Amino acid sequence: METLLEAALRLGRGETSSQELVRASLDRVAEREEELHAFLTLLPESAIEEAQASDRRRAAGQAMSVFDGIPWSAKDNLLTEGVRTTAASRILGDYLPPYSATAVGRIEAQGAVLLGKTNLDEFAMGSSTEYSAFGPSRNPVDPTRVPGGSSGGSAVAVAAGMCHFALGSETGGSVRQPAAFCGVVGVKPSYGRVSRYGLIAFASSLDQIGTLTRDVRDAAALLGVIAGGDPMDQTASTAPAQDYLAAAREGGKGLTFGVPPEYLGEGVAPEVRAEVERAAGLLERHGLTRRDVSLPHTPYALDAYYIIAPAEASSNLARFDGMRYGPRADAQDLAEAYRRSRGQGFGPEVKRRILLGTYVLSAGYYDTYYLQAQRLRTLLRDEFLQAFRDVDVLLTPTTPTTAFRLGENTQDPLAMYMADTLTIPANLAGLPAISVPGRPVGGLPVGLQLMAAPLREDLMFRVAATLEEVAAR
Ligand code: GLN
Repeated sequence: METLLEAALRLGRGETSSQELVRASLDRVAEREEELHAFLTLLPESAIEEAQASDRRRAAGQAMSVFDGIPWSAKDNLLTEGVRTTAASRILGDYLPPYSATAVGRIEAQGAVLLGKTNLDEFAMGSSTEYSAFGPSRNPVDPTRVPGGSSGGSAVAVAAGMCHFALGSETGGSVRQPAAFCGVVGVKPSYGRVSRYGLIAFASSLDQIGTLTRDVRDAAALLGVIAGGDPMDQTASTAPAQDYLAAAREGGKGLTFGVPPEYLGEGVAPEVRAEVERAAGLLERHGLTRRDVSLPHTPYALDAYYIIAPAEASSNLARFDGMRYGPRADAQDLAEAYRRSRGQGFGPEVKRRILLGTYVLSAGYYDTYYLQAQRLRTLLRDEFLQAFRDVDVLLTPTTPTTAFRLGENTQDPLAMYMADTLTIPANLAGLPAISVPGRPVGGLPVGLQLMAAPLREDLMFRVAATLEEVAAR
């Protein structure tokens, strides 16, 4: 399938037009959307109009960038001015944002054409899109299986050829995990690398916007567009973005990588483990040095995450109360109005997180749970920083297994949470991480994950480019 940069090249040479690209995308949507349900909102009319405008700009020699005219889509928890944004929740079912997320605005300023808003687990809480209030998406490789989540719709749209790239968001793996399940490239930048302004908050100390693309170079080019400081987000790093594309072109030769044994242990399918070992061997053969490191606190990451993320969610979601946001339910008094608006507006997983979060923050439990989880988070981060003194990147599987079947984990929240064990540590530590497709096992995509030190996306992209070149064959 054509990559974003390949399409850009053809546009630049006059071999195709934005209208042609957008029409091809819409044809693909017409063929597969009914089965796959990647989108919550489709924008065919405005997309065609924007494509016409793009073609006119280009004909006049005024293309805004290489992205000008290329179809893309955004996860539906990213605000898009005047375009319905639901976070896949009934409570925001008809919400029209008054402004766009910074990352969305930066892509629009390049001239790319927004095709639609993609499906997700409600408020990005989940790993399969099955918790969307509007029905699940399906994996394009095998529609009996989930695409992963929560950015499942974005991964499906890119994997099924419905658009050339997409934005997603991560709190604990929501870009990398669906990328791994659908066979595309997913990047979670360092915490603070991309502004969170206009991303509907789940857990603010973890949330980060990420990219879904067909290859590593596309991801590098796209991150270059959205990275950078923002006066609207005080946590956005003002460190200048590196030339990620140049890093991807350079490749990983001469760098060092480690495979932490804690990421290959219990729960990781033997075929997935074997694929990581195969990839490690290939990297060594292509000029990288392997030096294994140990990260002994890894097994506690999942527990810490499922305290910290719900704690922050319980506070962030307080604004969805039928007064400030969301439809107000009929009620006799204020307390009942809150109760009923929230009771009707939120799905079961969101309620579970709010309850969990409220519990771990409550007097008497705060020290036992929340404080303890924060301590673990610090240990985990220190341990990573220590490891990155010895190696440039870490290589692990992205997920313990390949895509599971629809319905397989919905009755068992713990089993669903396990899908994120290998992605969550990078979120807790604020590291950049990428999932690159390996060689499929049993006909299903496998993701190989690379993590690097905070703001060392350059090293991550260098090794990822080599990994992509050698691993998928
Ligand atoms: N699956 C994880 C959760 O449900 C991560 C979600 C995410 O990264 N947004 O919390």
